[in-house]
Amino acid sequence: MAYDKNNVFAKILRGEIPCKKVYEDEHALAFHDINPQAPVHVLVIPKGEYVSMMDFTAHAPAELVVGFLRAVGTVARQLELEKTGYRVLANAGANAHQEVPHLHIHIFGGRPLGPMLVRQH
Ligand code: 5GP
Repeated sequence: MAYDKNNVFAKILRGEIPCKKVYEDEHALAFHDINPQAPVHVLVIPKGEYVSMMDFTAHAPAELVVGFLRAVGTVARQLELEKTGYRVLANAGANAHQEVPHLHIHIFGGRPLGPMLVRQH
């Protein structure tokens, strides 16, 4: 899938739309989800035009891949989730209900998070 420069996270990265920032470095930006699904629900996005984890890991420079993953860990630590636990998740494509076509990792925490996937029956 081609990258859409007008997706909402691209606009956040360009500063055209505000966000509640929790962390930023040269590789990544982290901010609170606008519609939180848990007491802690933060999104971490790489500073680059990548649609999904597959796109990112295939095409991003190694320094950015490492920097982005380190940022996810740094944010989880900054949010003090290590002791109680947390979940990281990245949706890609239709079956996963990816809404925004810019790679993002969700970090959830602050309560017991239940089963990994919703049961369908
Ligand atoms: P996805 O389903 O693509 O994995 O998740 C997209 C997430 O982005 C959703 O949890 C949604 O609430 C969040 N989101 C969508 N638009 C915005 C926005 O403008 N600002 C913020 N902070 N989050 C957004």
